[in-house]
Amino acid sequence: MALIVQKYGGTSVGSPERIQTVAEKVARLRGQGHDLVVVVSAMSGETDRLIKLAKALHSEPPARELDVLLATGEQTTIALLTIALEKIGCPARSYTGSQVHIRTDNAYGKARILDIDAARIHADLKQGRVVVVAGFQGADEDGNITTLGRGGSDTTGVALAAALKADECQIYTDVDGIYTTDPRVVPEARRLDKITAEEMLEMASLGSKVLQIRSVEFAGKYKVPLRVLSSFEEGSGTLITYEEND
Ligand code: ADP
Ligand code: ASP
Ligand code: MG
Repeated sequence: MALIVQKYGGTSVGSPERIQTVAEKVARLRGQGHDLVVVVSAMSGETDRLIKLAKALHSEPPARELDVLLATGEQTTIALLTIALEKIGCPARSYTGSQVHIRTDNAYGKARILDIDAARIHADLKQGRVVVVAGFQGADEDGNITTLGRGGSDTTGVALAAALKADECQIYTDVDGIYTTDPRVVPEARRLDKITAEEMLEMASLGSKVLQIRSVEFAGKYKVPLRVLSSFEEGSGTLITYEEND
């Protein structure tokens, strides 16, 4: 039995049907006896929609309030996924970032995770529940809601995996792994079975958004077993490796 942290990006939870597919996948894995923590992003397009709404009222929305607003995208998805899980008989609970004490600094819009209290999550797992956590968000020491920057749900997933000492962190997205370059731009790009954390960091720093750069830094620091896979097709995706393991 393993403890697995899975993260599903916006496209993977972009409609009720897709959320249901994710729920079925999660329930199947739990049925095999694994402990599961599932991090979700906002449904695709939702974060942009919320930014547009704020900008319709203020060309430079106050950063604190923008974070309060943007955090609702992920809050919607955790509730929907948990509802879908309960519907198919899989006990689950949803939590916002601040509810599972993802403590960050107070740099609104680009906050850094300082600390996570894993106790609450472990308690739920012990009760046999799947724990569904909102990606991309936390709270500062005064309880103000913060967000982690675009693509920040990747970092939530990796940070939770590090804090929980998970056996694997699986990042489910709309491509079946890491390619030599963006496969949507360069059709000849090749999928890699493995990539070192250093190479991945370089790719992220050159602007590839497949993983948020901070999630790669985090993974390297804590040697989090990390894999990028497709939520739409079977396959073993791409494993991120660390020098010592090679
Ligand atoms: P999610 O919503 O699941 O977080 P993102 O859109 O943030 O997904 O990241 C996945 C996208 O990253 C892919 O659709 C792909 O176009 C892009 N991408 C950029 N560089 C790469 C790469 N080297 N390998 C794979 N995907 C890449
Ligand atoms: N919803 C946020 C974004 O669109 C975070 C994420 O998807 O990782 O950037
Ligand atoms: Mg992303």
